[in-house]
Amino acid sequence: MPIFSSMNLCKFLIVSTCSLWMFVLIPPVSVSGAENGPLRIIVFGAHPDDCEIRVGGTAAKWAQIGHKVKFVSTTNGDVGHAAMAGGPLAQRRTREVEEAAKVLGIETQVLDNHDGELMPTLENRKEIVRLIRQWKADIVITNRPNDYHPDHRYTSILVQDAAYMVTVPYLCPDVPYLEKNPVFLYWPDRFQKSNPFQANIVVGIDDVMDLKFKAIDCIESQFYELGCAGVDPNKWIGKDEAKRAAFLRERFKFNVWDAWRPLLEEFYGKDASPGIRNAEAFELCEYGRQPSKEEWKRLFPFFPDSPK
Ligand SMILES: [Zn+2]
Repeated sequence: MPIFSSMNLCKFLIVSTCSLWMFVLIPPVSVSGAENGPLRIIVFGAHPDDCEIRVGGTAAKWAQIGHKVKFVSTTNGDVGHAAMAGGPLAQRRTREVEEAAKVLGIETQVLDNHDGELMPTLENRKEIVRLIRQWKADIVITNRPNDYHPDHRYTSILVQDAAYMVTVPYLCPDVPYLEKNPVFLYWPDRFQKSNPFQANIVVGIDDVMDLKFKAIDCIESQFYELGCAGVDPNKWIGKDEAKRAAFLRERFKFNVWDAWRPLLEEFYGKDASPGIRNAEAFELCEYGRQPSKEEWKRLFPFFPDSPK
């Protein structure tokens, strides 16, 4: 008996041809960012507190005018304390950033990777690609890869590696790809090698400082119990509200760096700039979309001549 009878061969050809046509006729689905609707911003930090400290003010400003912001912690923070660790700490830190997100009016997610063990694997890269696509991001923010902490470095590498790849149709075809590469940004740090932070945009946050402090106030394990530096509980800040408020304001000043003043003048005007005391700044990553001056103003609709 032949392996293929003529009828079976015919069936085989029909099925094969149909499969081929299905392959040709069903391209991967794409989505575009928000040309007309609300802006969509996703921020990646390594630990449940990084995004809140670095982008909390700008996130609150976006949220106040109806734009959509999501913070993602790429680890669960489960070794970030001197007196507790593991699952209970991961749960506690997740609850803390969920409370902070409510204050800021944004969404938040904590990925279940161990603190201190994040690696720039293909699996993690694909998770970041999917998260950026699912959020339909116009803007993606993270720290620079120049950083003392391996989780920070690898978070940055993973996000950089997702830039451009989010637009590639057949990479992770289970999630619609983005038609436009988002704008990728870094928040500031003081590391000088191999290149110091250089701001491309600066946002005055004096009007949302109370909200930012209120959000940070939710993250008790890291600030009032000093995180993994709090080996001696006698040095913890305690429960007194006034003492806590004074501690936060001393530790987090979010002052404007001298190098940012020319940019503040450029975006806010010469008259408004000197009055700005607290700011968050961002550096443009070369691997994402490169916005024009007009697009900067659209993406950061906080300046006197931003389109409203
Ligand atoms: Zn961190």
